[in-house]
Amino acid sequence: MKVSDATAGIPAEFIEEVRRKIAATTPQHFINGAFVPGVQGELFETLDPSNNQVLTRVYRGHAEDVDKAARAAKAAFAQWRLNAKARKRYLLKIAELIEKHADELAVIECLDAGQVLRIVRAQVARAAENFSFYAEYAERAMDGRTYPVDADWLNYSVRVPVGVCGIITPWNAPLMLSTWRIAPALAFGNTVVLKPAEWSPITAWKLAQIVQEADLPPGVFNVVQGFGEEAGDAVVRHPDIPLIAFTGETTTGSLITQNSAPLLKRLSLELGGKSPVIIFEDADLERALDATVFQIYSFNGERCTASSRALVHQTLFDTFVGRLAERAARIRVGHPLEPQTEVGPLIHPEHLQRVLGYVEIGKQESQHIFGGERVGQEGNYVRPGLFVAENHHRIAQEEIFGPILTVIPFRDEADAIAKANDSKYGLASYIWTRDVTRAHRVALALEAGMTWINSHNVRHLPTPFGGVKFSGTHREGGEHSLEFYTELKHIALPLREHPIPKFGR
Ligand code: NAD
Repeated sequence: MKVSDATAGIPAEFIEEVRRKIAATTPQHFINGAFVPGVQGELFETLDPSNNQVLTRVYRGHAEDVDKAARAAKAAFAQWRLNAKARKRYLLKIAELIEKHADELAVIECLDAGQVLRIVRAQVARAAENFSFYAEYAERAMDGRTYPVDADWLNYSVRVPVGVCGIITPWNAPLMLSTWRIAPALAFGNTVVLKPAEWSPITAWKLAQIVQEADLPPGVFNVVQGFGEEAGDAVVRHPDIPLIAFTGETTTGSLITQNSAPLLKRLSLELGGKSPVIIFEDADLERALDATVFQIYSFNGERCTASSRALVHQTLFDTFVGRLAERAARIRVGHPLEPQTEVGPLIHPEHLQRVLGYVEIGKQESQHIFGGERVGQEGNYVRPGLFVAENHHRIAQEEIFGPILTVIPFRDEADAIAKANDSKYGLASYIWTRDVTRAHRVALALEAGMTWINSHNVRHLPTPFGGVKFSGTHREGGEHSLEFYTELKHIALPLREHPIPKFGR
């Protein structure tokens, strides 16, 4: 599949220029304000998911590189933590520069992660918003309180930053997901070592350039590229990094928990999902259909909050499945930079095989309705797929992380809740009904960190984001990020001389 000249506002020459620029560089680590090659000098390839050709080679970090970054971040922390006004100015500058470089960031993300332009544009805007939101928010939010004890004591609390934050991110939405952690960490006075995913490392390199252009003090923000078991693991085990914000697979989150346990690190884990959308018989079916289709097939199905299990009331089941199949068949699969494309290629040939493997499992165990096959022989394209299944089937229980929807019938409210909760995951959930009391009753009963009623996933930065069960351990967003990225410190002062026990006199 080729890119036509008519790319929604991004001219083909600009795309080629970005592609040439990437090919001509070897993205380095960003440590202590400078771009540096890895200590061991090893490289790894990053591929263009639309054809699996090498986009460029990137420096592969090891423990020595992480150590340099952690030391630089620790040294920078001493000053960075002190000046809230300066932090705000720097963060607003980064937001402005993300907007200035928005087209380049969008093209890089399309080329490197295979996400489609219409989605990536919104993500780049969100990346800028992550910085501008927390720049403003931190100034107001880092307050404390006093505790009335009696007239002889002043007891109060303040929020202080934790120190160096290790941020480890997945490949599906690299810029948006990393900035969602970087921005609050920096805003509340911490410094950062970022380890981006090895399958889509390039926007982190571009973000480091933006940070350099914003003239951030050296060491405040560092990037070490590389593999999870090498650079990622070194971040997890480094004694100068007391906090880890991780987004990725549940099994990796569990491993990180074990590996960081000897150092008792503070962890926030955003993990996998198998989120249900429940469609009751009184739902607005047109809107429920739009939301269900968007929520599973957007982001190429590589979305943690995807509504990958549609639970549909038995009276509408056949009609709704028919409508879903019609819509899935019309979805435009194509090159990520084509303006009309709705679903692009999966990130990597290995991930393609994993998703196709689930399609085969589904064909044996469940009822195959539509799609799920590879499209073309070049790149990692998959036709949006649809299955009817029982909730215990593997394709209804395991996270596929591709454009595959599993639809399951239910009898009544109790059955819908039981099936929705019969999952090891608990990230998002979606309810479609016009009955307002049922909507709230079911929302309360669902084992999920987040529920949207009559809506797809619409994010609002101050609200809590995160999952329960195997989907995560924390909430971030607004005050919840404040809690995670700061320590609450208590300070006490006697206002007159008070009795002190006189031991050893
Ligand atoms: P992954 O767990 O394979 O990798 C994530 C990151 O962890 C990468 O940077 C990787 O290099 C690193 N890593 C791997 N092993 C490590 C180790 N032993 N120590 C330290 N770091 C290590 O996940 P992925 O395949 O990149 O991403 C897909 C997963 O992410 C899906 O399960 C998806 O649901 C989840 N995800 C969750 C959210 C959320 O907010 N809950 C958002 C996006 C993606």
